[in-house]
Amino acid sequence: MSAKNIIVIGAGFAGLSAATTLADMGYAVTLVEKHQMPGGRARVHEAAGFRFDMGPSWYWMPDVFERYFARFGKKVSDYYELIRLDPGYTIVFGENDRLTVPADYQSLRDLFESYESGAAVQLDKFMEQAAYKYEVGVNQLVYKPSRSIFEFTSPGLLYDMTRMDIFQSIRKHIRKFFKNPKLVKLMEFPVLFLGATPQNTPALYSLMNYADLKLGTWYPQGGMFEIVKAMESLAKEKGVRFVYNAEVTAIRIAGKSAKTVVTTAGDFEADVVVGGNDYHHLDQHILEPAYRNYSAAYWKKRVLAPSSLLFYIGLNKKLEGLTHHTLFFDEEFDQHAHDIYTDPKWPSRPLFYTSLASKTDPSVAPEGCENLVILIPLAPDLPDSEATREQYYQRVMDRFERLTGQSIRDAVVYKRSYAMADFKADYHAFRGNAYGLANTLLQTAILKPSLKNKKLDNLYYTGQLTVPGPGVPPSLISGQVVAAEILREHPNH
Ligand SMILES: Cc1cc2nc3c(=O)[nH]c(=O)nc-3n(C[C@H](O)[C@H](O)[C@H](O)COP(=O)(O)OP(=O)(O)OC[C@H]3O[C@@H](n4cnc5c(N)ncnc54)[C@H](O)[C@@H]3O)c2cc1C
Repeated sequence: MSAKNIIVIGAGFAGLSAATTLADMGYAVTLVEKHQMPGGRARVHEAAGFRFDMGPSWYWMPDVFERYFARFGKKVSDYYELIRLDPGYTIVFGENDRLTVPADYQSLRDLFESYESGAAVQLDKFMEQAAYKYEVGVNQLVYKPSRSIFEFTSPGLLYDMTRMDIFQSIRKHIRKFFKNPKLVKLMEFPVLFLGATPQNTPALYSLMNYADLKLGTWYPQGGMFEIVKAMESLAKEKGVRFVYNAEVTAIRIAGKSAKTVVTTAGDFEADVVVGGNDYHHLDQHILEPAYRNYSAAYWKKRVLAPSSLLFYIGLNKKLEGLTHHTLFFDEEFDQHAHDIYTDPKWPSRPLFYTSLASKTDPSVAPEGCENLVILIPLAPDLPDSEATREQYYQRVMDRFERLTGQSIRDAVVYKRSYAMADFKADYHAFRGNAYGLANTLLQTAILKPSLKNKKLDNLYYTGQLTVPGPGVPPSLISGQVVAAEILREHPNH
């Protein structure tokens, strides 16, 4: 058997997953990556004794990671120590007004009941439906390549789909169960990961509430980059060849096939190419017009998930009264959502999120210090300047200090900002997006950018802009889904 040569572009989660799965299937796989390290949006930034996870900080759906490693005869625990956070996170509604989410379900029920009479039983009912959606959604639907509507039309699946709440918004769905505004905000929070407003997100995604409140929030000791290191090591064990500092600038075509991947580190001949870099950039800037999957007008109409303004901050003291993850919902979500989706502009009253990984993990900061990451969701493609970033830093810090009752700015020993311009420079991110496309109904499954090029028989796509969507678990799944399609259409012989 002669192994076909596969070139995978991009060593993010999706590219790593595709490369490893393909190598395990017997292909000769080379992974070319623009940066000098793997991880993509989940890279790590080290400075002044601090180690910052640059992107994802929430480890949800541990079963998806377990299933990924099990596919290769491995376990998560072979690579990193995973701990469940308890409490999972805190939501700050105002001074001395916060809700802390316990890991234990019975304690969570008690918490719900303390906010609203009958809410514990309502939570049970909500979770029963959400568990079903998780089972069908995460174990069946997201592993489909979504290339044809017929993948979804088996009688069993059609019956399931009627129970999946695709045509109702999650906003309405949640309000059928809970009236208390704080419980409603807690239940709407996971929708933020999906990049659309609760009004525009199908109630199918209450499966995210199941992931949040039942399966829990976890943390790999050492940081989220431990997942990347694990995946890189497994890929190497499977024989994937890594070429770092290799930015793809062109793909040469022969007939109906992608033939040569041209990079800043040389040219690579391919039998099959998998684009794990930003889909839009590959489609609109690397491929010549005749081979593009979509028009500029198509891309213009896509609804993107928000971008973000991030601050990676080293503090020379410990902060009081904060958990690993804290959501600052002291301002109205609807106003912030309006400034992201309806009338895109720098938000007048932004919600923000803080991660303090050093609360759980002493290895990410020097002793006695704190590793703080602040994230403010923003509309993509806003004018981005240092002065605006600094203005938002000061505004958010004013609130952060007031709401937590302590001085923070005077303890800052390291600070780096990161926003739209950086997403573009580092990843060629379409409109500076952070998390890809919003998961609206019209951008789900077969309505997402396709994982296969329509004009070339051997060019595939993987990652957060194609199926199943944004987030670390979906990116892991995306790589496996595209590998299965390649095995079917381009077997080794
Ligand atoms: C700030 C932030 C916070 C997030 N928080 C969470 C979270 O808490 N939990 C969660 O599950 N998800 C989270 N996400 C989403 C998650 O990180 C992403 O969906 C996921 O990492 C995307 O992986 P990917 O492989 O599709 O893309 P990427 O990670 O972007 O990988 C693409 C790779 O391609 C490379 N590349 C680009 N262009 C080229 C080129 N021309 N040639 C060669 N290589 C190229 C890039 O360098 C990169 O390594 C977050 C994302 C961000 C940005």
